[in-house]
Amino acid sequence: MNKHGDIPFTAEKLKEIINGHQTPFHLYDERGIRENARKLNKAFSWVPGFKNHFAVKACPNPYLVKILHEEGNGVDCSSLPELLIAERLGIRGEDIMFTSNDTPPNEFKKAFELGAIINLDDITHIPFLEKNAGLPEIICFRYNPGPLRQTAEGNVIGNPEESKYGLTKQQLLEAYRTMRDKGVKRFGLHTMIASNELNPEAFIQTANMLFDLVSEISEKLSITFEFVNLGGGMGIPYRPEQKQLDLAAVSEGIRKAYEEKITGRGLKPLRILTENGRIMTGPFGYLITTAIHTKSTYREYIGVDASMANLMRPGMYGAYHFITVMGKESAPHDHTYDIVGSLCENNDKFAINRQLPKIDVGDVIVIHNAGAHGHSMGFNYNGKLRSAEILLRENGQYELIRRAETPGDYFSTLNFPGASIDMS
Ligand SMILES: *Cc1c(COP(=O)(O)O)cnc(C)c1O
Repeated sequence: MNKHGDIPFTAEKLKEIINGHQTPFHLYDERGIRENARKLNKAFSWVPGFKNHFAVKACPNPYLVKILHEEGNGVDCSSLPELLIAERLGIRGEDIMFTSNDTPPNEFKKAFELGAIINLDDITHIPFLEKNAGLPEIICFRYNPGPLRQTAEGNVIGNPEESKYGLTKQQLLEAYRTMRDKGVKRFGLHTMIASNELNPEAFIQTANMLFDLVSEISEKLSITFEFVNLGGGMGIPYRPEQKQLDLAAVSEGIRKAYEEKITGRGLKPLRILTENGRIMTGPFGYLITTAIHTKSTYREYIGVDASMANLMRPGMYGAYHFITVMGKESAPHDHTYDIVGSLCENNDKFAINRQLPKIDVGDVIVIHNAGAHGHSMGFNYNGKLRSAEILLRENGQYELIRRAETPGDYFSTLNFPGASIDMS
């Protein structure tokens, strides 16, 4: 993974891209994505049948999903369009994990048709699924440990007890029993507790918890589990002082737990799945934007041509994103700026009181770690349009993989006389 501030393209290359494509845009680094995916697979190579199901919501561009699929990832979908991306890429069957909640009938139907592993979020979804789609051959349930687990402070997913997801332990037992009695023979168990977690212990604890549950439920119900899914949530170091998640430590801790609680108890080999999004594409995507205004009032502001519509995390979570002023990497960081977008909301700020080199109008600004939950969280509030996505190929060429939205796109769904005229 990248060191802080590392950029996989030169200033000249970026200039060349900007000459052909207006900022703002998201730029993704294919090489980084591939190398990182291999690293994750290697870290878990001891696991029989390890697979990360890429959480499509993190970056739902089929070009990127395809790259990850080529590197051995499955997908984790939670909506109809996400399932359609998988289908379009020829990803079928158990390469798809369908982890949804509050699920509409047509989404279960599509997941069922594609042969996805359906991961149910509630016990009442059993009859709902059966009625609207059918009885699948393999079933998974999402466990919510409630008060048994606390998440770290600042974790956007919140405490399990307050979270809307998953089944209680009592419900879990009843749910598997029901499925067993209906004739289902293949089972998996899922949980997702962490989000942007950098402490290996969190994942090791989760694995221990799931292994214990697997052995308890297997024994009580005489069923066999094929896999556990630890969920996503592997974190990335957004801040310069943060360290990368130590994958070797995560893997080693889980291996110990596996040897004690699965192999050691004579249970059948269990596959371990994850459904990470952030760690797979986050560090390998950059939001490229240009300074279009400088403003000096009670603070010093740099107005850029991107806004929260292109990257919502800072405005929504107060999240930190590292920033490079292209060509001024080694200049003294002796100015304090708020880097702001044009939305009529005062939280539309990419950085607050950030020490940076002197920025002039026309400077190109690179916002790091924007490759996950970046473009995909984009929205159209205030008539803001979502930006383009460009893929930097391994051979150094680049490709527009999604064009920027136009006013025509913005008006295209409007049912008003004359509104559908081309306003691009
Ligand atoms: C969002 C989500 C993920 C991916 O989370 P990351 O933080 O991107 O790894 C995985 N599984 C479920 C169920 C999710 O909701």
